[in-house]
Amino acid sequence: MVDASAFLFIIINANVIKLNIIMKKYTIVLMCLLGFFRVSATSNERGSVTSNEPISGTQKEYATVPGDTALLVLKNASVLDVKRGKFIKGKDVVIADGKIISVSASGKIWKAAKVMDLTGKFIIPGLIDAHVHLTANRKNNMENTYRHLEYLLAHGITAVRDAGGDGAALHEAQLEIRAGKRKGPDVYFSSFMAGDWYYNRDMHIRNEPYTPWEQLVVPGTNLDSAMSAAKACGATGLKLYHSFNKHFLPKVVQAAKAQDLKVWGHLMMYPATPLEVVDAGVEVVSHVYMLENLTTDSLFFKRKTPQAYKDSVIAALDIDAFCKIMKKKNAILDATLCVSEDRNPWIFPLLKRIHEQGVAIAAGTDQIVDTDRAYPRLLDELSYFVEKCGFSNADALRAATMVGARVIGQEKHIGVIEPGKSANLLVLEGNPLLDIHALKKINAVLKF
Ligand SMILES: [Zn+2]
Repeated sequence: MVDASAFLFIIINANVIKLNIIMKKYTIVLMCLLGFFRVSATSNERGSVTSNEPISGTQKEYATVPGDTALLVLKNASVLDVKRGKFIKGKDVVIADGKIISVSASGKIWKAAKVMDLTGKFIIPGLIDAHVHLTANRKNNMENTYRHLEYLLAHGITAVRDAGGDGAALHEAQLEIRAGKRKGPDVYFSSFMAGDWYYNRDMHIRNEPYTPWEQLVVPGTNLDSAMSAAKACGATGLKLYHSFNKHFLPKVVQAAKAQDLKVWGHLMMYPATPLEVVDAGVEVVSHVYMLENLTTDSLFFKRKTPQAYKDSVIAALDIDAFCKIMKKKNAILDATLCVSEDRNPWIFPLLKRIHEQGVAIAAGTDQIVDTDRAYPRLLDELSYFVEKCGFSNADALRAATMVGARVIGQEKHIGVIEPGKSANLLVLEGNPLLDIHALKKINAVLKF
């Protein structure tokens, strides 16, 4: 039984939640929604709240109907069960305070709620691009960053991981979006770290720690301080980039994990090899093309080597040990097909083989956002998964939802549609399990 004061409390919260609903053609209907529920508190006591515009029914009625305290009901939709990879028809998704509070069979009359009739529509979790670059490295233009973010959100991307950029700008965007002052996906970003060879070609020219989001890390660096600085600048994880060996790398990983930072990095860290990188405990490894380092065939690396020859080397490449250690460590491959599709077309059959072995794969594009494109590159990445790498549509969707959520350490909050999870959702006109390009036909994006 829900008492009246609890109901009213939820309503008050409606005025402070950061609700963005982007409808067809991205018209924001936030104001009408909040207007509908506009209430004003006349004192600090919960029971003494009055509504300016009464919602249908009386407060007493809400109080006597358990579960009817929702603010927003997405009615009669097909809802994606991400884990099982199928849509369940005829569901009502009930949302309060930015969270899903129930997913139940449709048919109930919702008196207390704003109802969106989604008959014939498909609801999936908001998409996650696990590898973007939102800022210029130096002298970033904040308005460009916000434009990038708004573009991504309008196309259904509700969270991103930025894998290297201007940390001050990213932190600002992260906070502004979190506070509801700006529209965009939730921003998670990295503190970029590399060794002396990367920065100085082993000449030790610069020794200062640079910035909290771009650090020089070498044996002898106070790793605890490096991690504290990364954490304090708002970073969710590290992007370990280059110049780490198999002896030093585990120490860096350990120091990061001790401060609850995610550990992300390149699959090849020069000299640490892909197997050594995964073995060291890096949780998310980027760029499937870097698996070329598993081959010792020198002809393979020559620019003019015929494609057919490269394909034959890749087809014979022994990836068993790599796949085995990825699974053992529960690591995720951030494949980034988009970034090397032209240069390394052999990545498609290679990723197909890795996927067949059951390695977790996230959808990251490694792209600088191009708002002139009709759709974000994430949609290309997902269609390549399906059309060139043998993924089922469900697997492709998991890569951009459930697995993406794990990349940023948010699997308890986003990535699937179930009670308790965030209601960052994408409503589609068509079924993306039948046609992955249905992701382009958006009915609404909900982002709290
Ligand atoms: Zn990148």
